[in-house]
Amino acid sequence: MKENCKGRAGGYNCVVCIKQVPDTKKVTGEAMKADGTINRAALPAIFNPEDRNALEAALSVKERYGGTVTAIAMGLPAACAILREALMCGADAAYLVTDRKAAGSDTLATSYILSQAVKKFNPDLVFCGRQAIDGDTAQTGPQIAEKLDFAAITYLEKLDLDGDFATAVRDIGTGVETDRVKLPALFTVTEKFGELRPFDVRRVMKYKKAKAPVENGGAAMEGDLAIGQLSCDDIGCDPERCGFAGSPTNVNKIVSVVLAGGDYKEIAPTDEGVKALVDELAADHTIG
Ligand SMILES: Cc1cc2nc3c(=O)[nH]c(=O)nc-3n(C[C@H](O)[C@H](O)[C@H](O)COP(=O)(O)OP(=O)(O)OC[C@H]3O[C@@H](n4cnc5c(N)ncnc54)[C@H](O)[C@@H]3O)c2cc1C
Repeated sequence: MKENCKGRAGGYNCVVCIKQVPDTKKVTGEAMKADGTINRAALPAIFNPEDRNALEAALSVKERYGGTVTAIAMGLPAACAILREALMCGADAAYLVTDRKAAGSDTLATSYILSQAVKKFNPDLVFCGRQAIDGDTAQTGPQIAEKLDFAAITYLEKLDLDGDFATAVRDIGTGVETDRVKLPALFTVTEKFGELRPFDVRRVMKYKKAKAPVENGGAAMEGDLAIGQLSCDDIGCDPERCGFAGSPTNVNKIVSVVLAGGDYKEIAPTDEGVKALVDELAADHTIG
Protein backbone atom coordinates (compact mmCIF):
# COMPACT_ATOMS: atom_id res chain seq x y z
CA MET A 1 0.00 0.00 0.00
CA LYS A 2 1.39 3.44 -0.88
CA GLU A 3 1.89 6.24 1.62
CA ASN A 4 -1.20 8.33 2.49
CA CYS A 5 -3.50 5.54 1.31
CA LYS A 6 -5.54 4.16 4.18
CA GLY A 7 -7.10 1.23 2.38
CA ARG A 8 -7.28 -2.00 4.33
CA ALA A 9 -5.21 -5.14 4.84
CA GLY A 10 -5.38 -7.46 1.85
CA GLY A 11 -6.43 -4.72 -0.55
CA TYR A 12 -9.59 -4.69 -2.64
CA ASN A 13 -11.12 -7.12 -5.07
CA CYS A 14 -12.13 -5.13 -8.17
CA VAL A 15 -14.19 -6.26 -11.17
CA VAL A 16 -14.40 -4.12 -14.30
CA CYS A 17 -17.01 -4.63 -17.03
CA ILE A 18 -15.64 -3.86 -20.49
CA LYS A 19 -17.52 -3.94 -23.76
CA GLN A 20 -16.29 -4.32 -27.33
CA VAL A 21 -18.16 -1.84 -29.53
CA PRO A 22 -18.22 -0.82 -33.18
CA ASP A 23 -16.14 2.32 -33.74
CA THR A 24 -18.95 4.79 -34.32
CA LYS A 25 -16.44 7.47 -35.39
CA LYS A 26 -15.80 5.41 -38.53
CA VAL A 27 -19.39 5.33 -39.73
CA THR A 28 -19.81 4.83 -43.47
CA GLY A 29 -22.85 4.34 -45.71
CA GLU A 30 -22.82 0.60 -44.80
CA ALA A 31 -23.02 1.20 -41.04
CA MET A 32 -26.73 0.35 -40.78
CA LYS A 33 -28.54 -2.64 -42.27
CA ALA A 34 -31.85 -2.27 -44.08
CA ASP A 35 -33.69 -3.56 -40.97
CA GLY A 36 -32.27 -0.70 -38.87
CA THR A 37 -29.77 -2.82 -36.90
CA ILE A 38 -26.03 -2.05 -36.79
CA ASN A 39 -23.95 -3.71 -39.49
CA ARG A 40 -21.16 -4.71 -37.09
CA ALA A 41 -19.14 -6.29 -39.91
CA ALA A 42 -18.78 -2.87 -41.61
CA LEU A 43 -17.27 -1.13 -38.58
CA PRO A 44 -13.98 -1.84 -36.80
CA ALA A 45 -14.44 -3.12 -33.23
CA ILE A 46 -12.81 -1.21 -30.37
CA PHE A 47 -12.56 -1.13 -26.58
CA ASN A 48 -15.46 1.10 -25.46
CA PRO A 49 -13.77 4.43 -24.62
CA GLU A 50 -15.20 4.96 -21.12
CA ASP A 51 -14.50 1.32 -20.23
CA ARG A 52 -10.83 2.19 -20.70
CA ASN A 53 -11.33 4.84 -17.99
CA ALA A 54 -13.15 2.25 -15.84
CA LEU A 55 -10.21 -0.14 -16.20
CA GLU A 56 -7.85 2.68 -15.21
CA ALA A 57 -9.95 3.29 -12.08
CA ALA A 58 -9.69 -0.39 -11.11
CA LEU A 59 -5.94 -0.53 -11.83
CA SER A 60 -5.35 2.62 -9.79
CA VAL A 61 -7.14 1.01 -6.80
CA LYS A 62 -4.88 -2.02 -7.11
CA GLU A 63 -1.80 0.20 -7.45
CA ARG A 64 -2.64 2.36 -4.43
CA TYR A 65 -4.17 -0.17 -2.06
CA GLY A 66 -3.30 -3.65 -3.34
CA GLY A 67 -5.77 -6.35 -4.39
CA THR A 68 -6.86 -7.75 -7.74
CA VAL A 69 -8.52 -6.65 -10.96
CA THR A 70 -10.74 -8.99 -12.96
CA ALA A 71 -12.05 -7.86 -16.37
CA ILE A 72 -15.32 -9.24 -17.73
CA ALA A 73 -16.69 -8.78 -21.26
CA MET A 74 -19.99 -10.17 -22.46
CA GLY A 75 -20.13 -10.68 -26.19
CA LEU A 76 -18.90 -12.65 -29.15
CA PRO A 77 -15.49 -14.45 -29.12
CA ALA A 78 -13.96 -11.39 -30.85
CA ALA A 79 -14.39 -9.50 -27.56
CA CYS A 80 -11.34 -11.46 -26.30
CA ALA A 81 -9.27 -8.78 -28.08
CA ILE A 82 -10.18 -6.20 -25.40
CA LEU A 83 -9.72 -8.76 -22.61
CA ARG A 84 -6.14 -9.30 -23.85
CA GLU A 85 -5.67 -5.52 -23.82
CA ALA A 86 -6.90 -5.42 -20.22
CA LEU A 87 -4.38 -8.11 -19.26
CA MET A 88 -1.61 -6.21 -21.06
CA CYS A 89 -2.45 -3.07 -19.06
CA GLY A 90 -2.39 -4.84 -15.69
CA ALA A 91 -5.59 -6.85 -15.07
CA ASP A 92 -4.95 -10.08 -13.16
CA ALA A 93 -7.67 -12.15 -14.83
CA ALA A 94 -10.06 -11.87 -17.76
CA TYR A 95 -13.36 -13.59 -18.49
CA LEU A 96 -15.55 -13.73 -21.57
CA VAL A 97 -19.26 -14.30 -21.01
CA THR A 98 -20.47 -15.79 -24.24
CA ASP A 99 -23.56 -17.83 -24.95
CA ARG A 100 -26.17 -18.12 -27.68
CA LYS A 101 -28.78 -17.81 -24.90
CA ALA A 102 -27.57 -14.19 -24.42
CA ALA A 103 -28.19 -13.14 -28.04
CA GLY A 104 -30.77 -10.38 -28.41
CA SER A 105 -30.34 -9.20 -24.81
CA ASP A 106 -31.52 -5.64 -24.10
CA THR A 107 -30.07 -3.70 -21.16
CA LEU A 108 -32.29 -5.50 -18.63
CA ALA A 109 -31.07 -8.94 -19.74
CA THR A 110 -27.47 -7.74 -20.28
CA SER A 111 -27.28 -6.29 -16.77
CA TYR A 112 -28.83 -9.46 -15.33
CA ILE A 113 -26.27 -11.70 -17.05
CA LEU A 114 -23.38 -9.40 -16.11
CA SER A 115 -24.59 -9.18 -12.50
CA GLN A 116 -24.56 -12.98 -12.31
CA ALA A 117 -20.99 -13.01 -13.68
CA VAL A 118 -19.84 -10.23 -11.34
CA LYS A 119 -21.36 -12.04 -8.33
CA LYS A 120 -19.10 -15.03 -9.01
CA PHE A 121 -16.04 -12.93 -8.09
CA ASN A 122 -17.48 -11.48 -4.85
CA PRO A 123 -16.01 -8.00 -5.50
CA ASP A 124 -15.58 -5.04 -3.17
CA LEU A 125 -15.71 -2.60 -6.08
CA VAL A 126 -17.22 -2.91 -9.56
CA PHE A 127 -16.35 -0.44 -12.30
CA CYS A 128 -18.25 0.17 -15.54
CA GLY A 129 -17.94 2.84 -18.18
CA ARG A 130 -20.64 5.51 -17.93
CA GLN A 131 -22.00 4.38 -21.28
CA ALA A 132 -21.22 2.32 -24.36
CA ILE A 133 -20.87 4.26 -27.62
CA ASP A 134 -23.12 1.87 -29.56
CA GLY A 135 -26.13 1.30 -27.28
CA ASP A 136 -25.60 4.64 -25.51
CA THR A 137 -28.16 4.00 -22.79
CA ALA A 138 -25.89 4.29 -19.69
CA GLN A 139 -28.34 1.89 -18.01
CA THR A 140 -26.20 -1.21 -17.65
CA GLY A 141 -23.96 -0.08 -14.74
CA PRO A 142 -26.76 1.15 -12.43
CA GLN A 143 -28.88 -1.90 -13.34
CA ILE A 144 -26.04 -4.26 -12.34
CA ALA A 145 -25.76 -2.40 -9.00
CA GLU A 146 -29.49 -2.67 -8.42
CA LYS A 147 -29.46 -6.43 -9.06
CA LEU A 148 -26.51 -6.96 -6.69
CA ASP A 149 -27.95 -4.57 -4.10
CA PHE A 150 -24.73 -2.52 -4.27
CA ALA A 151 -24.59 1.26 -3.90
CA ALA A 152 -24.23 2.92 -7.32
CA ILE A 153 -22.06 5.99 -7.84
CA THR A 154 -22.21 7.40 -11.36
CA TYR A 155 -19.89 9.80 -13.23
CA LEU A 156 -16.85 8.98 -11.06
CA GLU A 157 -13.94 11.41 -11.27
CA LYS A 158 -11.85 10.54 -8.22
CA LEU A 159 -11.84 7.77 -5.61
CA ASP A 160 -10.24 7.20 -2.21
CA LEU A 161 -10.69 4.14 -0.03
CA ASP A 162 -10.52 3.73 3.69
CA GLY A 163 -11.44 0.43 5.32
CA ASP A 164 -14.89 -0.60 4.13
CA PHE A 165 -15.72 2.89 2.80
CA ALA A 166 -15.13 4.80 -0.42
CA THR A 167 -15.05 8.56 -0.83
CA ALA A 168 -16.05 9.32 -4.39
CA VAL A 169 -16.02 12.60 -6.27
CA ARG A 170 -18.59 12.63 -9.06
CA ASP A 171 -19.34 15.03 -11.86
CA ILE A 172 -22.80 16.58 -11.56
CA GLY A 173 -22.56 18.80 -14.60
CA THR A 174 -22.55 22.10 -12.77
CA GLY A 175 -19.75 21.05 -10.40
CA VAL A 176 -18.78 18.03 -8.34
CA GLU A 177 -20.38 16.14 -5.48
CA THR A 178 -18.43 14.13 -2.89
CA ASP A 179 -20.11 10.97 -1.61
CA ARG A 180 -19.06 8.56 1.10
CA VAL A 181 -20.34 5.07 0.52
CA LYS A 182 -20.01 1.67 2.18
CA LEU A 183 -18.56 -1.11 0.07
CA PRO A 184 -19.39 -3.13 -1.94
CA ALA A 185 -20.27 -0.50 -4.49
CA LEU A 186 -20.43 -0.02 -8.25
CA PHE A 187 -18.99 3.03 -9.98
CA THR A 188 -19.57 4.27 -13.52
CA VAL A 189 -16.57 6.13 -14.84
CA THR A 190 -16.07 8.93 -17.35
CA GLU A 191 -13.02 10.23 -19.17
CA LYS A 192 -12.54 12.71 -16.32
CA PHE A 193 -11.13 9.90 -14.18
CA GLY A 194 -8.09 9.79 -16.46
CA GLU A 195 -6.72 7.93 -19.44
CA LEU A 196 -5.97 4.24 -19.36
CA ARG A 197 -2.26 3.63 -18.75
CA PRO A 198 -0.29 2.27 -21.73
CA PHE A 199 0.48 -1.41 -22.18
CA ASP A 200 3.30 -2.80 -20.08
CA VAL A 201 5.79 -4.25 -22.61
CA ARG A 202 6.49 -7.34 -20.48
CA ARG A 203 2.78 -8.00 -20.18
CA VAL A 204 2.32 -7.60 -23.95
CA MET A 205 4.89 -10.35 -24.50
CA LYS A 206 3.22 -12.48 -21.85
CA TYR A 207 -0.44 -12.07 -22.82
CA LYS A 208 -0.42 -11.63 -26.59
CA LYS A 209 -1.13 -15.35 -26.94
CA ALA A 210 -3.78 -15.51 -24.20
CA LYS A 211 -6.99 -17.10 -25.48
CA ALA A 212 -10.41 -18.21 -24.36
CA PRO A 213 -11.38 -21.83 -25.11
CA VAL A 214 -13.69 -20.61 -27.89
CA GLU A 215 -10.60 -19.27 -29.73
CA ASN A 216 -8.56 -22.40 -28.99
CA GLY A 217 -10.60 -25.28 -30.39
CA GLY A 218 -12.58 -25.57 -27.12
CA ALA A 219 -9.58 -26.24 -24.86
CA ALA A 220 -8.54 -23.91 -22.02
CA MET A 221 -5.03 -22.45 -22.32
CA GLU A 222 -2.56 -23.17 -19.54
CA GLY A 223 -2.09 -20.86 -16.53
CA ASP A 224 -1.62 -17.16 -17.25
CA LEU A 225 -2.57 -17.62 -20.91
CA ALA A 226 -6.11 -18.63 -20.02
CA ILE A 227 -8.93 -16.19 -20.66
CA GLY A 228 -11.82 -17.66 -18.71
CA GLN A 229 -15.05 -18.46 -20.52
CA LEU A 230 -18.44 -18.43 -18.86
CA SER A 231 -21.78 -19.56 -20.22
CA CYS A 232 -25.16 -18.48 -18.85
CA ASP A 233 -25.39 -21.88 -17.08
CA ASP A 234 -21.91 -21.45 -15.53
CA ILE A 235 -23.08 -18.30 -13.75
CA GLY A 236 -26.46 -19.66 -12.75
CA CYS A 237 -28.63 -17.54 -15.05
CA ASP A 238 -32.35 -18.16 -15.33
CA PRO A 239 -32.83 -18.67 -19.12
CA GLU A 240 -36.11 -16.74 -18.93
CA ARG A 241 -34.12 -13.62 -17.97
CA CYS A 242 -31.54 -13.92 -20.79
CA GLY A 243 -31.57 -13.01 -24.47
CA PHE A 244 -34.84 -12.32 -26.25
CA ALA A 245 -36.86 -14.07 -23.51
CA GLY A 246 -35.58 -11.64 -20.87
CA SER A 247 -35.71 -8.50 -23.01
CA PRO A 248 -38.93 -6.48 -22.83
CA THR A 249 -37.49 -3.63 -24.95
CA ASN A 250 -39.17 -3.33 -28.31
CA VAL A 251 -37.42 -1.14 -30.87
CA ASN A 252 -40.37 0.34 -32.71
CA LYS A 253 -38.52 2.37 -35.32
CA ILE A 254 -35.03 3.70 -35.94
CA VAL A 255 -34.77 7.01 -37.76
CA SER A 256 -31.57 8.41 -39.19
CA VAL A 257 -31.66 12.13 -38.40
CA VAL A 258 -29.51 14.30 -40.62
CA LEU A 259 -29.71 17.99 -39.76
CA ALA A 260 -29.55 20.29 -42.75
CA GLY A 261 -27.60 23.57 -42.55
CA GLY A 262 -30.74 25.67 -42.16
CA ASP A 263 -32.24 23.64 -39.28
CA TYR A 264 -31.58 26.17 -36.57
CA LYS A 265 -33.31 29.22 -35.24
CA GLU A 266 -31.71 32.30 -33.77
CA ILE A 267 -33.18 33.44 -30.46
CA ALA A 268 -32.69 37.05 -29.51
CA PRO A 269 -30.81 37.29 -26.17
CA THR A 270 -33.69 39.24 -24.60
CA ASP A 271 -36.47 38.39 -22.11
CA GLU A 272 -38.98 38.35 -25.00
CA GLY A 273 -36.76 36.01 -27.06
CA VAL A 274 -36.39 33.55 -24.18
CA LYS A 275 -40.13 33.71 -23.35
CA ALA A 276 -41.03 32.97 -26.98
CA LEU A 277 -38.65 29.99 -26.98
CA VAL A 278 -40.08 28.60 -23.71
CA ASP A 279 -43.66 29.04 -25.01
CA GLU A 280 -42.77 27.22 -28.22
CA LEU A 281 -41.06 24.32 -26.39
CA ALA A 282 -44.01 24.02 -23.99
CA ALA A 283 -46.50 24.08 -26.89
CA ASP A 284 -44.82 21.11 -28.61
CA HIS A 285 -44.40 19.30 -25.22
CA THR A 286 -40.58 19.33 -25.38
CA ILE A 287 -40.75 20.75 -21.86
CA GLY A 288 -43.48 21.14 -19.28
C1 LIG B 1 -34.26 -5.41 -28.21
C2 LIG B 1 -32.75 -5.34 -28.18
C3 LIG B 1 -32.01 -6.39 -28.71
C4 LIG B 1 -30.62 -6.34 -28.70
N1 LIG B 1 -29.93 -7.37 -29.22
C5 LIG B 1 -28.60 -7.36 -29.22
C6 LIG B 1 -27.84 -8.44 -29.76
O1 LIG B 1 -28.38 -9.42 -30.23
N2 LIG B 1 -26.47 -8.35 -29.73
C7 LIG B 1 -25.84 -7.25 -29.17
O2 LIG B 1 -24.59 -7.20 -29.17
N3 LIG B 1 -26.54 -6.23 -28.65
C8 LIG B 1 -27.89 -6.25 -28.66
N4 LIG B 1 -28.58 -5.21 -28.14
C9 LIG B 1 -27.85 -4.12 -27.54
C10 LIG B 1 -27.57 -4.48 -26.10
O3 LIG B 1 -28.74 -4.63 -25.40
C11 LIG B 1 -26.81 -3.35 -25.46
O4 LIG B 1 -25.63 -3.16 -26.18
C12 LIG B 1 -26.47 -3.73 -24.03
O5 LIG B 1 -27.64 -3.96 -23.29
C13 LIG B 1 -25.70 -2.65 -23.30
O6 LIG B 1 -26.41 -1.45 -23.37
P1 LIG B 1 -25.66 -0.19 -23.86
O7 LIG B 1 -24.90 -0.55 -25.10
O8 LIG B 1 -26.61 0.94 -23.89
O9 LIG B 1 -24.58 0.00 -22.71
P2 LIG B 1 -24.52 1.07 -21.57
O10 LIG B 1 -25.60 0.84 -20.59
O11 LIG B 1 -24.40 2.43 -22.15
O12 LIG B 1 -23.13 0.59 -20.94
C14 LIG B 1 -22.65 1.08 -19.70
C15 LIG B 1 -21.50 0.23 -19.27
O13 LIG B 1 -21.95 -1.09 -18.94
C16 LIG B 1 -20.92 -2.04 -19.26
N5 LIG B 1 -21.41 -2.94 -20.31
C17 LIG B 1 -22.45 -2.78 -21.14
N6 LIG B 1 -22.56 -3.84 -21.97
C18 LIG B 1 -21.54 -4.67 -21.65
C19 LIG B 1 -21.08 -5.91 -22.14
N7 LIG B 1 -21.71 -6.54 -23.16
N8 LIG B 1 -20.01 -6.50 -21.58
C20 LIG B 1 -19.35 -5.90 -20.55
N9 LIG B 1 -19.73 -4.70 -20.04
C21 LIG B 1 -20.80 -4.11 -20.58
C22 LIG B 1 -19.74 -1.22 -19.78
O14 LIG B 1 -18.90 -0.92 -18.68
C23 LIG B 1 -20.43 0.02 -20.31
O15 LIG B 1 -19.58 1.14 -20.40
C24 LIG B 1 -29.96 -5.23 -28.15
C25 LIG B 1 -30.70 -4.18 -27.62
C26 LIG B 1 -32.08 -4.22 -27.65
C27 LIG B 1 -32.84 -3.05 -27.10
